[in-house]
Amino acid sequence: MIHVSSAPVESDSWQSILANCVSDPKTLLQRLALDPKLLDAAHAASREFALRVPEPYLSRMRKGDPDDPLLRQVLPLGEELVAQPGYVLDPLGEQHSNARPGIIHKYHGRLLLLVSGGCAINCRYCFRRHFPYADNNLSTAEWDQALDYIRADSSIREVIYSGGDPLAANDRRLTWLTREIAAIEHVRRLRVHTRLPVVIPQRVTPELLDALCGTRLPVTMVLHCNHANELDAEMATAIMRLKSAGITLLNQAVLLKGVNDRLEDQINLSEALGDHGVIPYYLHVLDAVRGAHHFHVDDAQACTLVGQMLTRLPGFLVPRLVREQAGQPSKLPLPVSPRAAGAMPDE
Ligand SMILES: *Cc1c(COP(=O)(O)O)cnc(C)c1O
Ligand code: SF4
Repeated sequence: MIHVSSAPVESDSWQSILANCVSDPKTLLQRLALDPKLLDAAHAASREFALRVPEPYLSRMRKGDPDDPLLRQVLPLGEELVAQPGYVLDPLGEQHSNARPGIIHKYHGRLLLLVSGGCAINCRYCFRRHFPYADNNLSTAEWDQALDYIRADSSIREVIYSGGDPLAANDRRLTWLTREIAAIEHVRRLRVHTRLPVVIPQRVTPELLDALCGTRLPVTMVLHCNHANELDAEMATAIMRLKSAGITLLNQAVLLKGVNDRLEDQINLSEALGDHGVIPYYLHVLDAVRGAHHFHVDDAQACTLVGQMLTRLPGFLVPRLVREQAGQPSKLPLPVSPRAAGAMPDE
């Protein structure tokens, strides 16, 4: 079959997949043959933060399994509505580093540009689930101001496209923006933090690769893959295209109870990434965002887990365990040392 990826109205284009995400809890439960008893809670929790899951991601979930690790990342649960001390709306205090619209400048030498407020998927654990995205959809004048901010600060070596999901923006916007940034002499690198190639691999088109790679800037993409089951054949194709375009590929994951908190989950994820030449970069502990406490894994367990990974994997397949802490000059590494791992269930 021949795909003409530039045709605008193709039914399997990424735009149409994005526009046709499942957002009705009832549809999700029916499609996966799940107990309708889950519906009331799903409706209630989705009023706080909508359900949103794209077809290619949904198609990787197991039917009839309420504990499927991909389902757990998107299914709204009643637990989200139970208040927990310490779990707040803006755990990272980002609304204060968000001094200019569209920019978060917290760390030396690198700056986040909020390229698109939208996401292709709504992840229940997301630390930005309460972020005021609407205030960060920039007008043309605001884009100019954001670029002026980068032009005026020669300490900025790296611009990071973030969001939302920056690849939810169209290719015309990304082409324009990347050229403007490449024209700023002190900027040396471009980084893209995105979950789109994971959840809608069809997003990786020749046009996208041109938009990102058509300038002097070396490009690093940090994917956001949390579980080996996410890495199917379509995503593998997307990865291959990104690599062929010369993009360096890293991955960051969030450590989530019931999703990827067992040693075998983490080893399988690292091995799957390694199979495709993607380097695990960060494993984040959960940010204490309201509505996500049921994903919490305590620090001691997290350190043990990564310590066990050290004794099982080559060093470059062991991600750095980090926490994001308001007011710190970088992400904070958690103390990890090698730990003997017991036999895994499949051994
Ligand atoms: C994570 C992050 C970065 C990049 O940090 P690295 O350690 O270079 O990956 C930059 N800015 C913000 C606000 C971040 O959260
Ligand atoms: S910003 Fe990332 S983690 Fe948050 S909802 Fe969007 S894709 Fe998911």
